[in-house]
Amino acid sequence: MTTTEVPTDVAAFAGYVRERMTPHLGEFAQAGAGAAGAERDDHIAAVEELREGHEEQVACMRRLQRVLYDAGIAWPSGPTHLGGLGLTSIHDTVVDEVLDDMGFPSREALFVGLNIVAPALVHHAPAQVREPVVTGLYRGELIGCQLFSEPGAGSDLAGVSTRAVRDGDDWVLHGQKVWTSMGHLADVGEALVRTDPAAPKHAGLTMFLVDMHAPGVTVRPIRQMTGGAAFNEVFLDGVRVPDSHRIGGVGEGWKVASTSLGNERSTMSGAAGPLTPYVLERVVELVKRLGAEENPILRPQIARTVAAVTAMRAAAGLTPGSWTHRLEPVSGSVLKMLMTRALDEIARLAEDVLGERAFVDHGEKDAFAWSEFVLGVPALHLAGGTDEIQRNVIAQRGLGLPRR
Ligand SMILES: Cc1cc2nc3c(=O)[nH]c(=O)nc-3n(C[C@H](O)[C@H](O)[C@H](O)COP(=O)(O)OP(=O)(O)OC[C@H]3O[C@@H](n4cnc5c(N)ncnc54)[C@H](O)[C@@H]3O)c2cc1C
Repeated sequence: MTTTEVPTDVAAFAGYVRERMTPHLGEFAQAGAGAAGAERDDHIAAVEELREGHEEQVACMRRLQRVLYDAGIAWPSGPTHLGGLGLTSIHDTVVDEVLDDMGFPSREALFVGLNIVAPALVHHAPAQVREPVVTGLYRGELIGCQLFSEPGAGSDLAGVSTRAVRDGDDWVLHGQKVWTSMGHLADVGEALVRTDPAAPKHAGLTMFLVDMHAPGVTVRPIRQMTGGAAFNEVFLDGVRVPDSHRIGGVGEGWKVASTSLGNERSTMSGAAGPLTPYVLERVVELVKRLGAEENPILRPQIARTVAAVTAMRAAAGLTPGSWTHRLEPVSGSVLKMLMTRALDEIARLAEDVLGERAFVDHGEKDAFAWSEFVLGVPALHLAGGTDEIQRNVIAQRGLGLPRR
């Protein structure tokens, strides 16, 4: 199939995706909750956390990714020489929305690799690393993670202290990363480390692609208040990384990190993120089923929710563009702020409508299920950079306001 045969009109493209995926519905029908063709269970989460025995769930995500790749729709906005279609970020969103609507399982475990690691590789890695690794991520053969945050460097990311020292053709890494989403499943990690402690902090950083199975890498899951363990501490103890796996120039790690962060914030706000059409459908169903739409006390919250979701979707629709457009930092921060506001309103609405049923399991369908969503939303005010950091980006880089 050549790219010229793929419709670019958004509605026609949605039909094209649906047509390409329909033959695969049966294949994913046995995949458990949320599987295509099966009735979904009532599980709903803002931060998807893999359950006990998640191996089959992850294998299913990898299989689905491979199906998308083979169907030529794994990465509509990506460059054609790397398996993309050269379309826009809107077409990526269309794929996510159609899959969600058809009931295919989520690809949560692949999110970081596809939306944070791959952009950095495409823009900054040498061809001998970029091509096999990006293709591996898009085929579902590799899972990626982001090794940025440390116990002493989160918002102040340029303050990372994990060190890399050159040794022949290799670099040797020592340090600790934290909050590494899907680190326990990952094959490769994008690691921001300090190569020159004497340089000003942003200038002394370099990015590497770490083999997560290499000697010296230890991954320890962190249990969260939702009960899941989707992120980890990662210890790098004398891990050797060949210089060929450096992403970008020595001392240019901050530039590479900015590529990843810009894309992360934009894609989190799309249908690949937590605000899926399915979440909206579920909250509307909940309101209708419990007759809340006529309740005068609840109506203002319903209105706030509709306004926040509408604003988010309108803003996302205003910023279509090529894949590189997503790297623009200010629009990513604006979208992320609008997304977290919309999620807050949905969580608040679910809580208001359900009352104690959101937190005490009476076995009623669609009630206690919302507790995981409500408990997960606060994490999204931190992940990908906190609200305060997004506001700083918008103020300084978007509005040109002075640093305080
Ligand atoms: C669900 C989830 C997944 C994550 N996944 C990953 C991952 O895969 N890889 C990874 O590397 N990291 C990951 N993180 C970490 C995330 O990037 C950090 O939590 C975030 O950047 C904040 O850093 P911190 O937790 O160290 O908080 P701190 O930086 O210590 O911030 C504490 C508070 O101070 C405020 N603050 C700090 N500096 C400023 C400032 N200059 N102006 C105003 N206010 C400020 C912050 O807004 C915050 O409220 C994840 C986090 C979450 C919640």
